[in-house]
Amino acid sequence: MVRETHLHPGALIYPLFICPGEGIRKEIGSMPGVFNLSIDEAIKEAEACASLGLGGLLLFGLPAQKDEEATGAWAEDGIVQQALRTIKQNKALDSLVAIADVCLCEYTPHGHCGVVKRDGDHYEIQNDSSVVLIAKTAASLAQAGADIVAPSDMMDGRVEAIRNALDAGGHEQIPIMSYASKFASAFYGPFREAADSAPQFGDRRSYQMDGANLREAMREIDQDIAEGADMLLMKPAMPYLDVIRAARERYDLPMGAYQVSGEYSMLHAAFARGWLEPERTMMESLLSIRRAGADFIVTYFAKEAAKVLG
Ligand SMILES: [Zn+2]
Repeated sequence: MVRETHLHPGALIYPLFICPGEGIRKEIGSMPGVFNLSIDEAIKEAEACASLGLGGLLLFGLPAQKDEEATGAWAEDGIVQQALRTIKQNKALDSLVAIADVCLCEYTPHGHCGVVKRDGDHYEIQNDSSVVLIAKTAASLAQAGADIVAPSDMMDGRVEAIRNALDAGGHEQIPIMSYASKFASAFYGPFREAADSAPQFGDRRSYQMDGANLREAMREIDQDIAEGADMLLMKPAMPYLDVIRAARERYDLPMGAYQVSGEYSMLHAAFARGWLEPERTMMESLLSIRRAGADFIVTYFAKEAAKVLG
């Protein structure tokens, strides 16, 4: 009766990693229970998510080939575009919101989120040419059926460019969920195995945020809202609950948080040793993110948590 914070399956979003082929279900070593899935297998997973009452899916792609222009990200027959078309044809999946991640790192051989200019050992991320490809990617994903596009690249000016590209493509109604304050975090480690997107040189600190800076995070969010962001996605979650709380108090936009791969993996590592009680720990970790102020949570625990919630 007096409980202040609640979890419900409709506020949980499940990430899917789509790979080419058929009948493929390859477990990610550092993330027990999470798989690279070919489209046919991803549909089975999505059907399970729908029957558990989850709110939606967040789609990532592992293309057959990678190149400097990240062609696989924006091609009409890109792996996520194909998956979206298949999902949207399936009536059993109508209840799921299909959110498409928008980034280049899974589609470039160097694994950076933007276009890279190299000169010997020196390299630079090219912000503006990256934004052109990122906007093109978002429009292509909307065309394929994405309900929401979620840019995770952290380039400057991308939200406005995406809004313009969506509108020009007749997708004025498609919202942008911006990873407005994505911190450069060690907790993304296992994801890079899952999405095969580890940077081959350098790191992402020139475009992701310093974990020490909460006020700077608020400025980044201000900028994305000014450019037209419709929703916010905070990332990572547990090590940054204070940032989620600060954003909740400052902004009225719908806001989610991403319980990232490292948060999931470290809990699983402890479960495997019998050091933490799986169900209680999982639910407490999710409740803490809701209590901090997130409306919804992207989590690899989504299905397990929905089963507990019944
Ligand atoms: Zn990226």
